[in-house]
Amino acid sequence: MPLSQMKCERCGGMMPVRRRRGHLRKKNHIKTMWCPWCKRVTPHRERF
Ligand SMILES: [Zn+2]
Repeated sequence: MPLSQMKCERCGGMMPVRRRRGHLRKKNHIKTMWCPWCKRVTPHRERF
């Protein structure tokens, strides 16, 4: 299972996320998701 990291654009916190095989996305893709550090939904930048 490939592992990717999402970086919160608000607090800069890094979160490891699992990626399904063959489900590659563009580099620096921005995704809005929950940040456990900010305790709110923030934009996250995906890194490989
Ligand atoms: Zn955050």
